[in-house]
Amino acid sequence: MTAKVIDGKAFAAGVRAQVAAEVAKLKANNGIVPGLAVVLVGEDPASKVYVKNKHASTIEVGMNSFEHRLDADTSEAHLLALIAQLNADPTVHGILVQLPLPAHLNSDLVINAIDPAKDVDGFHISNVGLLGTGQKSMVPCTPLGCLMMLRDHHGKLAGMNAVVVGRSNIVGKPMAQLLLGDSCTVTIAHSRTKDLEAVCRGADILVAAVGRPEMITGAYVKPGATVIDVGINRIERDGKAKLVGDVHYESAAAVAGAITPVPGGVGPMTIACLLANTLTACCRANGLAEPKGLTA
Ligand code: NDP
Repeated sequence: MTAKVIDGKAFAAGVRAQVAAEVAKLKANNGIVPGLAVVLVGEDPASKVYVKNKHASTIEVGMNSFEHRLDADTSEAHLLALIAQLNADPTVHGILVQLPLPAHLNSDLVINAIDPAKDVDGFHISNVGLLGTGQKSMVPCTPLGCLMMLRDHHGKLAGMNAVVVGRSNIVGKPMAQLLLGDSCTVTIAHSRTKDLEAVCRGADILVAAVGRPEMITGAYVKPGATVIDVGINRIERDGKAKLVGDVHYESAAAVAGAITPVPGGVGPMTIACLLANTLTACCRANGLAEPKGLTA
């Protein structure tokens, strides 16, 4: 079997186009422009690239982008004061603090200082609780992107066996909650899971969020299963820098029914969902109906 490739790049372009169309309607009908504020502390090179891409994508869909770059030695008090200012600013509908923060800053404290209604990363403890109890929340962007692709590919997910490898707060756990919300039978696997291969082979939907380059080979995949590769790993092969996922693409694609590639799978969906979340936050803040298909 050769797997169908789930084209995250094309799917994300569709989501961005939908967001742009909704933003244009908001402007024309209500005179409202959604605004996203991104806070970057320090000079982490990967974070700088992410923030630059987020800025460009935000502008591209017609939203306002507010960038706040702070020195690496910024005090917690200064950062919290900025967040309080953004919380109070009616032109800012989404706030994202780029992680990781420098070690002297308490990430949990900082994230939980964001107004939950503006927490477009979905990391605030209130949003985590709302998602866990099946209530309306802001949903973390990467798992939301995975869910959208799965719904698009399968239609209804109810009754499917889903295995999520990885239990981080930003990917694994919210992914599992979303799949449960769509009535999958969900297993969360991690580094202590016994016979991981066999557990994964029980999955109709296999989500890899492990952070280990190409760990999930074809031997982990049930014939015909859908494989979602969240991993982004920079490796060197044959003297060249290469981006690979947590899934060994060739061997997994030979067994799976459908698979997301790296790059071009989950990655582009993450930024698209950040824009979708900002739009959703803006609609909620203004008491307007949320656009369909852009939330969990
Ligand atoms: P974390 O390091 O926070 O979590 C990794 C998880 O994988 C942990 O739960 C860990 O288990 C588990 N794990 C590690 N080794 C094994 C193993 N040998 N067998 C089974 N489970 C294992 O990573 P993240 O969740 O933050 O990220 C996961 C991947 O997704 C990374 O490659 C990251 O780069 C990528 N990513 C991609 C994004 C995108 O936009 N596409 C966004 C965010 C992340 P335990 O808890 O027991 O230690």
